[in-house]
Amino acid sequence: MRFLTLIFGTVGSGKTAEMFKIINKLQEHNLRCQPAQFKKFVVFKPITETRSDQTTIISRTGQTFNQVIAVNNTQNLKLEIAKYPNHIIIIEECQLFEINSDDIQAFVALIKELLKQNRQIILGGLIQNSHGQKFDILSSLCSEADEIINPHTTCNCGQIASRSQRLQMGYPTPITDPIFLVDNSFSHDLGYSYEPRCNDCFELPLEPHPNLKTFRSILAEIKDLKDQQNRP
Ligand SMILES: [Zn+2]
Repeated sequence: MRFLTLIFGTVGSGKTAEMFKIINKLQEHNLRCQPAQFKKFVVFKPITETRSDQTTIISRTGQTFNQVIAVNNTQNLKLEIAKYPNHIIIIEECQLFEINSDDIQAFVALIKELLKQNRQIILGGLIQNSHGQKFDILSSLCSEADEIINPHTTCNCGQIASRSQRLQMGYPTPITDPIFLVDNSFSHDLGYSYEPRCNDCFELPLEPHPNLKTFRSILAEIKDLKDQQNRP
């Protein structure tokens, strides 16, 4: 049956926990049914997601699912989905397919094509980037959705958080920074973090705070020194 579920929210809102509720229900169904009635499903995620290893998704509450198929772009995703013609399709962290902007239309077209084939699809991810602007994939699929799950958490001030605030050394990052920072151990070394914030507390300064400027210039000096040392 054609059925599109979108799960989106801010960082820390419990998106992955909502995804696990669906996965758990499918697994429970399969435990109590005969193979002919199984609801087969397959989970994909883009390979740039490095919060966990490439074949695992992990919620902030610690639940894990370790049979994930990692894909590196929409073309790769399409080829992998073709191997599972009768499965429910689950895709985590959909916003990361927007790192390559050419992929956005291809991804949306792929989902619409699968819906035409009466497939059931569940997509999870962020709907807003760190600049407070929409991500195109999930927002442009809202009108196609049969179900939208939008969990939210609270800002430190107590109001409902609807934004994902990016910080470096605790300071909001400026509008001049790129939208995507690949989340790897290197970016943790550089002091990046994210927190849920409400519309009132969300900050997108035009330039970095003076202390952040100092921190960044020290980082640049260290990098220069390392580059010099590594030069043959
Ligand atoms: Zn707030």
